[in-house]
Amino acid sequence: MAQETAATGKSAHTGGEKPGLYIHVPFCKTKCPYCDFYSITDLSAQGAWLHALQVEIDFYKHDFGTFETLYIGGGTPTVLSERDLDNLFRALHAGFSFCAGAEITVEANPDDITKDKLVFLRSRGVNRLSVGVQSFDENELRFLERRHTAAGAEKALSLVREAGFTNFGIDLMYGLPGQTGEGWLATLRKALTFEPPHLSCYELTLEETTALGKMKMAGQIAPLTEDEGEKFFLRTSRFLQHHGFIHYEISNFARSDDYCSRHNRKYWRHVPYLGLGPGAHSFQGGIRWWNYRSVDRYCGAAKSGVKPVGGSEILSSEQLRFERLFLGLRTHHGVTMEDAFGTSPSEPLLSRIRASGLITMRHNRIVPTLKGFLIADRLPLMFPD
Ligand code: SF4
Repeated sequence: MAQETAATGKSAHTGGEKPGLYIHVPFCKTKCPYCDFYSITDLSAQGAWLHALQVEIDFYKHDFGTFETLYIGGGTPTVLSERDLDNLFRALHAGFSFCAGAEITVEANPDDITKDKLVFLRSRGVNRLSVGVQSFDENELRFLERRHTAAGAEKALSLVREAGFTNFGIDLMYGLPGQTGEGWLATLRKALTFEPPHLSCYELTLEETTALGKMKMAGQIAPLTEDEGEKFFLRTSRFLQHHGFIHYEISNFARSDDYCSRHNRKYWRHVPYLGLGPGAHSFQGGIRWWNYRSVDRYCGAAKSGVKPVGGSEILSSEQLRFERLFLGLRTHHGVTMEDAFGTSPSEPLLSRIRASGLITMRHNRIVPTLKGFLIADRLPLMFPD
């Protein structure tokens, strides 16, 4: 999930940072009606997927050097059996090297979390979990057709803590039909009782390809108005900042810098990354490529001994600059003056934008304010092409 959420592009301004590795596990036991990520519910293809992944690892084992982060997302990585997960980790360690202290994240569905699975994940070096809770409200969970109940999510989070995971995040969703501001705050308050060092809070979006998107088109449900969305967003940010979180990216909050996602930060800062698995994206040296968004085609390519690449693009330096601007202005690190203005900094324009209250300057970088976050998609357009 995280890769499709976080990535859009990357570049050369890496300052020598080590790359990140993403693995897409394209399996889910059921399909959530709001989900636009690539996954299938036919779990019988897991063996073929794992075999193809091993072939794909071989293609890239000399190309990226040592990885500083590993993010296993999906889909639902925790639907994999311990045996398959074990084979996955073995293949990754056989093909690639990882820094000491690498951030190793696995996305986990509360319904799959057991004490044994957590012990197993820790034994394989996993030091960060991203738990897809979405809500602690029973009706909302039913609407979202999640597999877990609120009590199940609470149990899972207790197990995560008991298993000794000190770095874990809870994913939540706001803007559900009928959800009130108070109802959302109740979910946030419940989340905080588990003392998560990281929270991701996304507004429900009704993509046309999803079941809920089709309900929207049929007039059966309505998305939030812009005004309502703003209220949820501001309420979330203020509440979590009040409780000691840093609002470090539009949808992401961390207790301290140490708990900001190191992996996602690579996407936002044009650090090279390799994505393996169906639909996964990669970036290196100004070139982006992506795999077939189909388990069948992905496995078919591996069987034929060819890379499962579905497409690629070479980004010009101007495209890269615009992407850094677009991505950087979604984070509290912001962008450099050079990325904002190209080769000709414009003091009058900068003063005008500052006066709008949308950005501020920090350590000679342009960073968005909370008001700027609200219009993050349009903010880059205020700077010269
Ligand atoms: S479990 Fe996650 S990836 Fe799978 S369908 Fe639901 S939201 Fe999508």
